[in-house]
Amino acid sequence: MALEQYKRKRDFKKTAEPAGKPLPKKVKGASRFVIQKHDARRLHYDFRLEMEGVLKSWALPKGLPWKRGEKHLAVEVEDHPIEYEDFEGIIPQGQYGGGTVMVWDRGNYHVYGEQPVKSLREGKLHLVLDGQKANGEWTLVRIRGRDDTKNQWLILKTGGDTKAPSKKLEDQSVKTGRTMKQIAEARDAEWESNRETEESPTSKFKARIREAIKKKSKR
Ligand code: MN
Repeated sequence: MALEQYKRKRDFKKTAEPAGKPLPKKVKGASRFVIQKHDARRLHYDFRLEMEGVLKSWALPKGLPWKRGEKHLAVEVEDHPIEYEDFEGIIPQGQYGGGTVMVWDRGNYHVYGEQPVKSLREGKLHLVLDGQKANGEWTLVRIRGRDDTKNQWLILKTGGDTKAPSKKLEDQSVKTGRTMKQIAEARDAEWESNRETEESPTSKFKARIREAIKKKSKR
């Protein structure tokens, strides 16, 4: 699957998220996973698996379950480019998914039976994650959504219990050690803030209109 949907939703002139480069045909080496903590309209976790040259992605409103037998909702979302696994920073407000993103955990994964693509199509992925926080077995199972949508999955804790991260680790990036607050304050990856000087008269005009609308709606 390609990245059209991913690209359609984003304006890469305004967000520092990767635009997605053409990829080599085969991804060599171990398959990687990443979990990004994303403070958008609602706080959630984005669970992503390297597969077929992209990151297959699910949004987990409650994150991972840790106790054997527990299950959490996982909503399948559009594929993301591989480089996205390194993205930590701020997606500007007004852009798709606007908010703070933390690289919450990452590492290698494998699928029981070693046929990840087939398992994905069949709607059942029995995973072993080897991350810094998530270490152990989980299973993703596709379920039938209320309106017959095909993007609803559950992530189940299978195997044994896994120790949930401490409160401190829960809010700590595995990439930079920063908390969500620190990432939000640093604004280092926010594209727009560095670009004000390059803004065209048109975009300035548009910004003024946006401001005017905002003021009006506040009344
Ligand atoms: Mn997200």
